[in-house]
Amino acid sequence: MKEKIAALEQLKPDLHMHSIFSDGNYTPEELVQKAKNNGVNLLALTDHDEVEGNKRMSIAAENAGLLFVPGVEISTKFANKEIHVVGLDIDINNEALLKALAETKQNRVKRAEAMAEKLEELGFAGALKGAQEFVTNPSLISRVHFAKWLQATGAVGSFEQAFDKYIGSGRVAFVPLDSPTVGDAVKLILGASGVPVLAHPGRYGFKDWKLQALLDEFKNAGGKVIEVTTGSHSEKNNIEFADIARQQGFVASTGSDFHREGTRCPIGEQGQLPSDLTPVWTLFRDN
Ligand code: AMP
Ligand code: MN
Ligand code: MN
Ligand code: MN
Repeated sequence: MKEKIAALEQLKPDLHMHSIFSDGNYTPEELVQKAKNNGVNLLALTDHDEVEGNKRMSIAAENAGLLFVPGVEISTKFANKEIHVVGLDIDINNEALLKALAETKQNRVKRAEAMAEKLEELGFAGALKGAQEFVTNPSLISRVHFAKWLQATGAVGSFEQAFDKYIGSGRVAFVPLDSPTVGDAVKLILGASGVPVLAHPGRYGFKDWKLQALLDEFKNAGGKVIEVTTGSHSEKNNIEFADIARQQGFVASTGSDFHREGTRCPIGEQGQLPSDLTPVWTLFRDN
């Protein structure tokens, strides 16, 4: 893969996006089509706690003449905050990884039941069945599916409002997801021959010592890469984390974090990596 990337005349990467196999609105084939339309030629699928979509995406990318690496975005916990660790160029058949993801998916079911109970208490009858109607992969239920249901029933005026009022971190119907630590996720990805990436580090609201503690746990477990330019960052975040990568010697990744039209940014439009940073694809496997 490394050599194929090096042979490209012009590279337009997007190494972070979601499909119907987790909480995205599009199939792997549709994502490939959108990527191609936008001129992207290197892409990864990074569904939450799920690798199933990679097989279809790999075939679709090959048919479209795009370079593809299999990926995942692992839900983890650090200091009571939900932190995401992306794995790129992973072996999607690695048993330890699949076992850990299966556990988290089971925990998602338990959390959905607990969140539905809270929503019922708030007067939203049929919350679990309602959310399940929006699930697109029977083995993965997400807060997004609750948000879509709350929006469809008119309980909230917008998708975002579902998070702001009810299911966002710390809100009345929020229940945390039982998941591995940041360090455990890094080790799982390394064990699956992949490259761990600390996803959208600007989104957690961490500053100073707390941010450094997160970076240190990631680094101490073997993590070398942080996302610098991403649709989940503001412009200011992109600049701030490019500086952190420079100062602390992190390799840089880039991706839209695309889920659906109208939010974040289109596929491939997350902003170029500064040319003085080492890009993540230099760490991909040779073939
Ligand atoms: P979960 O993985 O079930 O905890 O759900 C988290 C997902 O919900 C994220 O990956 C986003 O796709 C989405 N999400 C979280 N917070 C917000 C928000 N404030 N507005 C819109 N979508 C959000
Ligand atoms: Mn998501
Ligand atoms: Mn994320
Ligand atoms: Mn994501």
